[in-house]
Amino acid sequence: MATVLDIAKRNPNAAPVAVSDAARVAGNAAIEKTAELTVVTGAAPGGASLVGLTRDQLKDSLAAIGVPERELKMRVAQLWHWIYFRGARDFAEMSNVGKGLRAKLAEAYTLARPQVVSEQVSKDGTRKWLIRMSSTGPFDKGAEIECVYIPEVDRGTLCVSSQVGCTLTCSFCHTGTQRLVRNLTSAEIVAQLIVARDMIGDWPDAMPPEGAFVPNDGGRFVSNIVFMGMGEPLYNPDNVIAAIGVLSDNEGLGLSRRRITVSTSGVVPQMERLGAEANTMLAISLHAVRDELRDELVPINRKYDIRQLLDACRAYPGLSNARRITFEYVMLKGVNDSDADARELVRLLKGIPAKINLIPFNPWPGSKYECSDWERIERFSEIVYRAGYASPVRTPRGRDILAACGQLKSETEKLRARARLMLEQGIGAEGVYALGTASKPLKV
Ligand code: SAH
Ligand code: SF4
Repeated sequence: MATVLDIAKRNPNAAPVAVSDAARVAGNAAIEKTAELTVVTGAAPGGASLVGLTRDQLKDSLAAIGVPERELKMRVAQLWHWIYFRGARDFAEMSNVGKGLRAKLAEAYTLARPQVVSEQVSKDGTRKWLIRMSSTGPFDKGAEIECVYIPEVDRGTLCVSSQVGCTLTCSFCHTGTQRLVRNLTSAEIVAQLIVARDMIGDWPDAMPPEGAFVPNDGGRFVSNIVFMGMGEPLYNPDNVIAAIGVLSDNEGLGLSRRRITVSTSGVVPQMERLGAEANTMLAISLHAVRDELRDELVPINRKYDIRQLLDACRAYPGLSNARRITFEYVMLKGVNDSDADARELVRLLKGIPAKINLIPFNPWPGSKYECSDWERIERFSEIVYRAGYASPVRTPRGRDILAACGQLKSETEKLRARARLMLEQGIGAEGVYALGTASKPLKV
């Protein structure tokens, strides 16, 4: 088992990580890893920070500093407006909250955001942030996740992470090779949107950074959210569903649930719940049309096969022609990209209101696949299109900064190796974090 030096609390019940690098290389990867780390559900970023909390969590935080029961609802509404509608960073801004309470709040809590360790801006305007979550316990130096902002003329999409690393082990995905895994809390998920709005000036009275590419249709700079960053959202359903509640609240962050898409590799037993409780759009990482191949590419298929997955899709609450499921299909040269594959894809999806999203494979260091040739992708897309599906080929965004689908892998892994080295050399862990990344911490 690997030594955990850097993040979160050791999970006393955790089994060793089930996947060794050797096993992966041998193509013998286990379906999933067991989390080495646990975190208290509902913990806020910044420990005492109120940013990211649900209404109930805010209520408890207020009650804990002695706000009387009869005032709680009104006070929560006030805080909600300041934190989520206005993006307040200081209790002093909260002009309709009495001075006494403001002082009490400032004594007990903060409005701290997780730290943006680095920002990379792609030639195409895509921005990738490495975000360090605050410590959740004595052994936790702060887990790192990546979050990507993809601006277009008429929309801005934020790609958020739901876990540090990923529990699963899809063979073409960089995140799947990361061994450190823990669930993000709902507050940590919400905080990614707060950070994005801070960074691109998407609050009332704020301005985007000079020269930044942001949508110019008069709407919000972040108009859509996709759970397509690190992690399998349906392995962390409680926190994902709670976070969606905060993200979509009309009196705060106000994102339409129809503009939130949760992508899953196929955690069949949780799909119904997602539809019923979060009512978001659904995307399925299909990637193969035969179980034999899908077992290899998306190993969770060995637990829930294609037939079970598609049955769960047919039963997804709210499914209609106006609310289609997106099927993601990564184009892997010579692996899943033949004409026969395209025809089988169309046959399988018959009767399901669907969109098909062809994703050119994004290579990462050490990956064993290649992206299909452009002519092959066009031909595949043509077959799917003739069968009546819009089949946009997703333009890879942010490839130059490794921000495209499946390229995310946080520095936490590298940090761990460095931490070990430094400990061996007798340098304390604090030094590790001071030296954690090449980029200078950003002030936001
Ligand atoms: N775990 C979830 C969501 C995150 S992955 C899921 O698997 O659906 C987001 C999307 O990126 C998925 O469709 C995933 O299969 C795809 N992806 C992963 N690695 C990729 C790569 N290297 N190139 C292109 N797409 C990739
Ligand atoms: Fe996890 Fe999704 Fe990557 Fe598979 S594709 S390893 S489920 S993030």
